[in-house]
Amino acid sequence: MTMTQTILVRYDEIGLKGKNRPEFVRRLVENIRRVTGLSKDQVQIEWGRIYLHPSGDPKALCQRLSMVFGVKSFSVALVVPPELERMQDAVIEMARRAWARGARTFKIEARRSFKAFPLNSMELNRELGGAVLRALPELRVDVHRPDVTFEVEVRQEGVFLFSERLAGPGGLPVGITGRALLLLSGGIDSPVAGWMLMKRGVAVDAVYFHSPPYVGEKAKEKVLELGRVLARWRGEPITIYVPYFTEIQVEVSRCAPPPLWTILFRRFMHRVAERLAEANHYGALVTGESLGQVASQTMENLACVEAATRMLILRPLIGWDKAEIVRLAREIGTYEISILPHEDCCVLFAPRHPETRARLDRVEAIEARLDIPRLVGSALGRMEVFSVTETEISALSAV
Ligand code: ATP
Ligand code: MG
Repeated sequence: MTMTQTILVRYDEIGLKGKNRPEFVRRLVENIRRVTGLSKDQVQIEWGRIYLHPSGDPKALCQRLSMVFGVKSFSVALVVPPELERMQDAVIEMARRAWARGARTFKIEARRSFKAFPLNSMELNRELGGAVLRALPELRVDVHRPDVTFEVEVRQEGVFLFSERLAGPGGLPVGITGRALLLLSGGIDSPVAGWMLMKRGVAVDAVYFHSPPYVGEKAKEKVLELGRVLARWRGEPITIYVPYFTEIQVEVSRCAPPPLWTILFRRFMHRVAERLAEANHYGALVTGESLGQVASQTMENLACVEAATRMLILRPLIGWDKAEIVRLAREIGTYEISILPHEDCCVLFAPRHPETRARLDRVEAIEARLDIPRLVGSALGRMEVFSVTETEISALSAV
């Protein structure tokens, strides 16, 4: 008996306005095809649904789908023509599999959007349920708390039968809302911030400020490892810029009082990031800051850092508790990498008593002693650039 297996993908574009609406499905399909390698012919778009027709075992494909932003949920479905006997065969087949997995009670939930089909949903429930009970007399019906529910959708394009709805990550397809540059440290927060923006459809690349020899290569490798996880979620390679931050740190720590170091470092990071954004068309910078989490993240300090550039700064974690951030970091697979013990650049040049209420006029007065364009140039002049996929890290020539 031949029954095709199709993956039925559900999405939710409600709430999208304007030109993003038609773009949504186009972009979602493109992203699904990129990570699954399916051909155009294996993807079918119909009535608010996407159908995928894999050639082999759909398991690996399901794993990929669970990480594609824009996918709300999906099911592996058996597809048969709208004939009662074929539907009964299919539901019996599903019941056999469910029995083997340990299910003892079931329920049928039929829906009919193809109104020309002669049986209504009630009649279908009865006919299909009856067929299952005859074929597998040990199974019982339980309409309230069944071990397994067989959903049957009678549509014009075919009848779809499935017993599981697997969760996608939701959100918007990556690329639909623009491009942004994430300030990615080796910490817990910034990778989560990047993930959240990707979930809102932003194609996120990253910049990591590295200070050799004060900070070891291990710290950089850790950031590239985080990049691999982010690349997997993005579904395409991400670019990681690694400017040379040493000279800025040395110079600032020589000219400024220690309490202001962190603020000044941050302002330089933002300036360098702004230059990268201008050259590579990023619409915003993204940071992992959360209000009040550490001494440097007070409202005054955030304002003072923000004043260094004219960029839009996105801080998706601003109102989050550490525990919430950690929970999400675990879920998305960055936590285990983030907690590896490698110092990040600011720990080394960390003042004992950081300023918590930086004043812009004071900060600017100190910066007046520094040759800002030269320092920014030194960071970009010795920059490394990497292209990172989930499996590969390759060095690009410096930009
Ligand atoms: P994280 O866990 O992301 O490191 P954090 O709580 O340690 O954050 P800070 O060290 O104050 O916070 O850094 C605040 C933000 O500044 C980070 O979330 C990150 O976006 C950015 N940042 C800090 N250090 C670097 C760096 N070396 N390279 C790139 N971005 C950095
Ligand atoms: Mg940090």
